[in-house]
Amino acid sequence: MKKIITSLLIFLLLALPLGGCVLRGQYKKYTSTIFATFDTVIQITAYAKSEQEFDSYFQMAAARFKQLHKLYDIYHDYEGINNIKTINDNAGIRPVPVEQEIIALLAFSQEWCQRTGGKTNIALGPVLRIWHNYRSAAIANPAEARLPTQGALVEASLHTDINKVVLDKARGTVFLEEEDMALDVGAVAKGFAVELVARELSAAGLKAGVINAGGNVRSLGIPPDGRETWTIGLEDPRGERKILTSLNVGETAVVTSSGQQRHYQVDGVHFHHIIDPATLWPATYHQAVTVVTPDSGLADFLSTALFILPYEEGLELVEKLKDVEAIWITPAGEIKFTAGLEGQLKGTG
Ligand code: ADP
Ligand code: MG
Repeated sequence: MKKIITSLLIFLLLALPLGGCVLRGQYKKYTSTIFATFDTVIQITAYAKSEQEFDSYFQMAAARFKQLHKLYDIYHDYEGINNIKTINDNAGIRPVPVEQEIIALLAFSQEWCQRTGGKTNIALGPVLRIWHNYRSAAIANPAEARLPTQGALVEASLHTDINKVVLDKARGTVFLEEEDMALDVGAVAKGFAVELVARELSAAGLKAGVINAGGNVRSLGIPPDGRETWTIGLEDPRGERKILTSLNVGETAVVTSSGQQRHYQVDGVHFHHIIDPATLWPATYHQAVTVVTPDSGLADFLSTALFILPYEEGLELVEKLKDVEAIWITPAGEIKFTAGLEGQLKGTG
């Protein structure tokens, strides 16, 4: 026994100066990709002892993302499944029995909407649907790109009261009280799903890895190779896949909302997909906002909310919350960030 301990100690002492990769012999890094869920490519990177072990985590994550994608879909029906679209189709008609994952997402979104002043509102569906239709039409035929009328937006906004989303947790049902209501969970569902999958992978034994769901990153543990942190690159919101800065983090979520992802142009002006419920038009305060907080669902929810708030109000909100940090890219390309990120961001002075 003593001999084993001694040789282990020597191994550690030898290994440490050689690049600090203490566990490199035991763990290897693997990466694989899930396509066609949540409108994005989801990359799973994990440290595992064998390819077989990695594959079992990967298959588990892939199956779960496919299932959650169907449950949180607002555009398509699936045989034998009541999803968010089913809830919308039954607005004003009847409560819809749904899986617990839907109730959890809606309860979470309702609670945080109340706690953050209502900027991220999953009941904004009627307004978002108008923008979605105009954007789709413009992308299909750019010469015919048009803007919605203020009248239509205002009319739609009359049916966006989140308090009329009735959750019956005991019965497991959801009811939209008015027939013109509709849920749009685009601001939060992907991050919420990533959080569920991250926790399930962790419970299954995964110690270290990263889920990257198109700008929605959630790390698990720390890399078992002597580094203390993961390095997460933040893309320049103006595109070209250029890295603007990078962030060193432990186990947390890093989620970005930007006005450059889904947008269209009318007479040379950009109109993107994040809509301010106060104006009913795309918010124009920032190029992008990134939120760093342990829960990926909350990071996603807040990134959308902060994108719709002026910097000062956003900062005030973040400072009231525990364990939440944020990075703003202003329209001029300047980077602002909360004090807690001091020393974690590269290349920002
Ligand atoms: P991403 O598309 O990268 O996930 P967000 O998390 O910011 O970006 O989500 C944007 C999506 O959220 C939009 O496509 C739309 O479906 C929805 N959305 C836009 N504005 C709002 C809002 N004010 N409240 C709730 N959901 C919104
Ligand atoms: Mg979001």
